[in-house]
Amino acid sequence: MTKAQDTDDAEDFCRICGYDEERFWEHSVPRSAICPCCGTESGIGDMGEPTWEGLTGIREYRGHWVGNGAQWRSPTLRPKGWDLLKHIANIPPEWR
Ligand SMILES: [Zn+2]
Repeated sequence: MTKAQDTDDAEDFCRICGYDEERFWEHSVPRSAICPCCGTESGIGDMGEPTWEGLTGIREYRGHWVGNGAQWRSPTLRPKGWDLLKHIANIPPEWR
């Protein structure tokens, strides 16, 4: 199945940082996938609701990650010329 055929493309993105090479959620169930970029495990660090109040935890986690230099958990996977602002622009709008 390609991404274009998915019913919920937002599940292919890390809710914290926007990394998109992993499936973090499946049918609204976390897959316990650990993001190689920000290190968040789906179902642990990214729980919340896409509402202003419900995003508080996600925004705190993201802010902490960025505030500490947006370090990659798996630095070897970091693309050459990686751009933080382009990366976080991948965060699905409802999780920003
Ligand atoms: Zn991430």
